[in-house]
Amino acid sequence: MIQTHQDIQYLQGVGPARAQTLERELAIRTVGDLLTYYPYKYVDRTHIYQISEIDGNMPYVQVKGRILSADTVGEGRNRRLVARMSDGTGVIELVWFQGLKYALKGYDFNKEYVAFGKPTVYGGRINIAHPELEEVRPDHLDTSKTGVFMPAYNTTDRMKRGGLNSAAMAKLTRHMLTLFDHPFAETLTPYLTEHYHLIPYDTAIRNIHFPESAELLRRAQVRLKFEELFYVQLNILRYVRDRIRRYRGLMMPHIGTAFNTFYHQHLPFQLTGAQKRVVREIREDMRSGRQMNRLLQGDVGSGKTLVALLSALIAIDNGFQACIMAPTEILAEQHLQTLRNLLGDMPVRVELLTGSVKGKRRTTILADLAAGTINILVGTHAIIEDNVVFARLGLAVIDEQHRFGVAQRAKMWQKNDTPPHVLVMTATPIPRTLAMTLYGDLDVSVIDELPPGRKPIATLHMFDSHRASIYKKVLREMEHGRQVYIVYPLIKESEKSDMKNLEEGYVQICRQFPQYKVGKVHGQMKPADKDAEMQRFAAGETQILVATTVIEVGVNVPNASVMIIENAERFGLSQLHQLRGRVGRGADQSYCILVTNYEIGNDTRRRLQIMVDSTDGFEIAEHDLKLRGPGDLEGTQQSGMAFDLKIANIATDGQILTLARDAAQFIIDHDPDEANPQNTILWRRLKELRKTNIYWGAIS
Ligand code: ADP
Ligand code: MG
Repeated sequence: MIQTHQDIQYLQGVGPARAQTLERELAIRTVGDLLTYYPYKYVDRTHIYQISEIDGNMPYVQVKGRILSADTVGEGRNRRLVARMSDGTGVIELVWFQGLKYALKGYDFNKEYVAFGKPTVYGGRINIAHPELEEVRPDHLDTSKTGVFMPAYNTTDRMKRGGLNSAAMAKLTRHMLTLFDHPFAETLTPYLTEHYHLIPYDTAIRNIHFPESAELLRRAQVRLKFEELFYVQLNILRYVRDRIRRYRGLMMPHIGTAFNTFYHQHLPFQLTGAQKRVVREIREDMRSGRQMNRLLQGDVGSGKTLVALLSALIAIDNGFQACIMAPTEILAEQHLQTLRNLLGDMPVRVELLTGSVKGKRRTTILADLAAGTINILVGTHAIIEDNVVFARLGLAVIDEQHRFGVAQRAKMWQKNDTPPHVLVMTATPIPRTLAMTLYGDLDVSVIDELPPGRKPIATLHMFDSHRASIYKKVLREMEHGRQVYIVYPLIKESEKSDMKNLEEGYVQICRQFPQYKVGKVHGQMKPADKDAEMQRFAAGETQILVATTVIEVGVNVPNASVMIIENAERFGLSQLHQLRGRVGRGADQSYCILVTNYEIGNDTRRRLQIMVDSTDGFEIAEHDLKLRGPGDLEGTQQSGMAFDLKIANIATDGQILTLARDAAQFIIDHDPDEANPQNTILWRRLKELRKTNIYWGAIS
């Protein structure tokens, strides 16, 4: 009998060469891997289009006809095989760029064929590149054997060259499924399948490949998505359960002099409702007896620093120290200044520790920290180094957390015998569904309200042919004493030409505004030079800063009122939003100008329009997630929580995700010791999955 762990090589139709290709291209090693290599779409094979109906915007189609001619054209890399197929209503070109020799091998000009593929328009003619070509057989439209829906599997060029196109994958899979002559064992407990109205695993796995009907396909998808997300959530929540059992939280029940004095005498403004709510949530955590692991999300300028300070004051009132870690020296210094200004003459000692703090100064700080006379330590990752010892660290705040790795967060835990409470802050809003997966082990607080009196930033999309009017705007702002950022993309792959753009832009700006001082920063400068240049801008010594995205993180120059983003089409939406957040920090009107050239596609136009229409970071993040998928979103790569999902889509399956999360929570709550025999199947399955998915061990 066939088993899921069997080597794919021994499946009929595979063999050593194809097995190697499958492994290298898709990491398919076993029968089970093939079983869970799901189609990415289905094609209704009952429908055959007339060639005259086809246009370049259609998805995959089938046409039926005879081949009139086949010729090899072009030279070198352009060499291709072009066949012309006609069905009497029109002619379509079938094109091969690779495997020219084999494409039409054994082909009979007198027979009718069905061509299947994605039509596109090239040079005014409609063609299908690398179509699947099948002889028309009498049973072609007899869907009793093949089903109405033909699965389509993603394959790579190398696979296609080795004869493993989508149709071949379907054939292998179909054959494999017939070998499983017993039903597949169930992978969820009966009460879950019943409660959520899920079809059996066996039905689901067979129908996901070869759906018997549209309805069964839909239910198979729901069942498999639920299951996938359920196990991801069960894994996360089990980890949370273990963490709660292992670590007791530091008890911080008091609100005392430090907090009260600050709150009543030093707070320069009213907290926003959202800030108040979040501080309450944090306070509850800190006195709960459980270790806090909280993610604070709040758009740029929403006032997270103040929340961090208030939390630190609670720790201080309970006899503990606090630290705030920022990703850059500039940010750390800015935090130090902000905190000292806010605290005024209060007896709370705040010190700075970065890589630049050296010698005697460093020795003093380290000694005082260990003696407990420093209340709040602000710094860069220098503060997690092993020789930095706190007397009693009670709260660790990590600002702009997506800039740090999981390991760095973990190091914070070891700074006290009992791990401190941890508050991680981010200005990259993450849609709720994504947070549930990426940061599923953290509680989430959201500041969804900006301090009053901020004018929304006016965002414009302009073409570079209108540069004159862009510069006019810049000039007007500078005449009013304001400052301007001009940002260029710097992408690794095209670093050279990007640097050239930046340099040319810099020269052009200097020439355009000779009466003003222009600064320049990019990632290839020495950190010290970069910092110095940033400081000059922050101090108002330069009026224009030409930069790459190095300025993205948290820098606060309230006097800057214009953000110009060149080649805006090359940035992700969330990144554009982050950059835009560098302006609009004062009470006056600020502007963000997205510059592109005129020849951009409709998709790009639409994307930029989202920026023009919305200043809501969450809304933008939702769009970004839908447009680019979770893997590309900023913050996801660093999280450590992989979601190498095979079927569920975090961007679109939010509802199923919520149900799966609830189900997993229910299991953890009602069977915390994993003693209920009904659930044995779940724990066993989780264990198997953890073995096959290398990422599942490491959670944020
Ligand atoms: P971010 O969340 O981006 O870190 P900051 O903490 O730097 O935002 O706050 C941005 C600005 O808003 C700061 O100048 C801060 O003093 C100000 N601010 C914070 N909270 C309030 C409030 N409740 N009312 C008015 N201004 C506030
Ligand atoms: Mg901040």
